[in-house]
Amino acid sequence: MSILNADLHCHSVVSDGTLTPEELAARAAANGVELWSLTDHDEIGGQQRAAAAARAHGLKYLTGTEVSVTFADETVHIVGLGFDANHPGMLRGLMETRGGRGARAHEMAGQLAQVGIPDAYKGALRYVGNPALISRTHFARFLVETGVCKDTSEVFRKYLTEGNPGYVPHRWASLKAAIQWITSAGGMAVIAHPARYKFTANEEFALFSEFKTHGGRGVEVVTGSHTAAEYVKYAETAREFGLAASRGSDFHSPGESHTDLGQLPYLPGELTPVWEVLADRIQ
Ligand code: AMP
Ligand code: MN
Ligand code: MN
Ligand code: MN
Repeated sequence: MSILNADLHCHSVVSDGTLTPEELAARAAANGVELWSLTDHDEIGGQQRAAAAARAHGLKYLTGTEVSVTFADETVHIVGLGFDANHPGMLRGLMETRGGRGARAHEMAGQLAQVGIPDAYKGALRYVGNPALISRTHFARFLVETGVCKDTSEVFRKYLTEGNPGYVPHRWASLKAAIQWITSAGGMAVIAHPARYKFTANEEFALFSEFKTHGGRGVEVVTGSHTAAEYVKYAETAREFGLAASRGSDFHSPGESHTDLGQLPYLPGELTPVWEVLADRIQ
């Protein structure tokens, strides 16, 4: 029987989610997910636990990660699926790309202190599950819990984003390197939530073109951060560029995420699902 309810994008405490890999597997199974992937930011430390928990629930599993990339001065996320989670090149690449997060977090806290929000580094650290992976999400949780903002979307409107206090520009991996780590480990590179980037049409075309050139093969069409109109738009882009299509909630936390695991429309027809291309990588 073919798979419909695949959810190939979510986060655990190993990056900026609030649930453990085991809790996510249980939630995915309860929500009727048939094929699951845990895609922590720049980190694959949760893969063994996720795969084991998936197996315990009778869930099919693909290894996953979401790599932070800098392209045309914007941060772009590239999901990797179905790679060997012990591949040395992949492990080294991800470790390098995570490396700048500590210093960045201290700078973010310094800026927040200047606008009257002291001790944000220590505060954010309270929400961090993995010290190597301190992210803006952890600062956002601190700013909500301390009453500075009412929710995380207000945080990202007023703080931590370009032009606002707490924004520290950061150079992540190159597009070429990220795709190379993933593909050399036997996996598939997928452009995450393309509608989220503030690109002109020309810049977006360049992203998709270069992505293909470097060996990228998939794009997220149905994701928690796309509107129905954007599903249609990126289904068209997938066909135009000959890319396989992915589907994933980008679930982070029961209290914060609008889209729960597995609770998304199915992929539009006439697209090749990434899980068909990755059939022999499914565990
Ligand atoms: P970082 O990798 O440290 O730059 O943090 C990026 C993370 O912040 C993303 O993966 C999201 O989880 C979160 N994020 C970014 N922008 C928003 C937003 N507008 N609303 C909610 N969460 C956001
Ligand atoms: Mn995140
Ligand atoms: Mn993302
Ligand atoms: Mn994500």
